[in-house]
Amino acid sequence: MPNDTIIAVNSRLDGMRDEMIETLGNLIRIPAINPRSGGEGEVKKAQSILDLISEFGFHEIERIDVPDESSPDKVRPNIIARIKGEGGPKPNIWIVTHMDVVPEGDLKLWDSDPFEPVVKDGKIYGRGVEDNGQEMIAALYAVKALKEEGVIPQHNINIAIVADEELGSEFGIKALIKKGLFEEDDIIIVPDGGNKDGTLIEVSEKSIMWIKITTTGKQCHGSRPERGINAFKAAMKFGVRVEEELHKKYNKRDELFSPPISTFEPTKKKANVPNINTIPGEDIFYMDCRILPDYDPENVYDTIKEIADLVSAKTGVTFDFERPQYDPAAPPTSPDSPAVLMLKEAIEQVYDIKPFAGGIGGGTCAAIFRRAGYPAVVWAKLDEVAHSPNEYAWIDNIVGDAKVYATLFCTQ
Ligand SMILES: [Zn+2]
Repeated sequence: MPNDTIIAVNSRLDGMRDEMIETLGNLIRIPAINPRSGGEGEVKKAQSILDLISEFGFHEIERIDVPDESSPDKVRPNIIARIKGEGGPKPNIWIVTHMDVVPEGDLKLWDSDPFEPVVKDGKIYGRGVEDNGQEMIAALYAVKALKEEGVIPQHNINIAIVADEELGSEFGIKALIKKGLFEEDDIIIVPDGGNKDGTLIEVSEKSIMWIKITTTGKQCHGSRPERGINAFKAAMKFGVRVEEELHKKYNKRDELFSPPISTFEPTKKKANVPNINTIPGEDIFYMDCRILPDYDPENVYDTIKEIADLVSAKTGVTFDFERPQYDPAAPPTSPDSPAVLMLKEAIEQVYDIKPFAGGIGGGTCAAIFRRAGYPAVVWAKLDEVAHSPNEYAWIDNIVGDAKVYATLFCTQ
């Protein structure tokens, strides 16, 4: 049963509902798209978050800039906001969210401006509202409610709002881990994934392997294919074959994950020739592979290269491979770790559901923590519309998840 303090803090959060929506909406107007996806980076958004939380009652707020020469501001900002607990030597609690967002994608697929928030039917729409605005707001307002209610938490509470999550985290969580900010027994929650009813606490991830495939043939006139080697045609043959054969060979199922299989998807396709009557001599496309932890992703990579050799022999093209991102799955977090147990209790109290520990498709900050030896967990109540057009967040989930954090922060 929730105690009186938790009931009071949570009713404060109900009263902050409109403020949370407004704040999230204001943040959505500052895109913070990754410079490597052609965006302006996170500096403006970071400043706006710092202005916002200066009155939230944190004991300490720090901005950690990581140098990045290729970004417009030359730095990538990360924010750490702390509340000191008074429970003596207790593990630190961390809630880690990210401020960068992915580009809007095809604008025609949006019903409204992706960077102008729309509130409708209990949801807020906009790029970044689910990924990762919802939980950033929930965590910050949980602290605000706690402070307004005069509650002194037992644990130290740290809210990290990081840069660069969408493209590898080099200038975000990886840099912060290198700085030695985290301790072995810290309770680290990365609310950047989850499921509709909020029951999934993610403790393990698939390996993530992105592959750039460059196919080289010989350019020639569209009417005289015998004089060249069509790189695009060979790339398509390779793409179809590789997708089929990988699914056949790496076909294990693990029901902890959704989907319960490894996935091997061709994604980005670079433009080749500008005109229709030229046979392209070069073709570039990308694959996004998410591989169950049962498999060594190096073996998958070898299989891909073997298939390329077969297609090369038949067509005369050459294939070159690069891996823009490669993160082999980390050892799972134990379902009995304090982070899982504390979070389970808080979720049960707020939502009256039975959470379980499972796996997801990979690629959150939690995998980076796990690889570095910190048992992080991922949780949020959301519909999984991240990166889609018409991305939305349920307002009930923003407020509800804030209550989960507040409940967690009140834990002895
Ligand atoms: Zn995210």
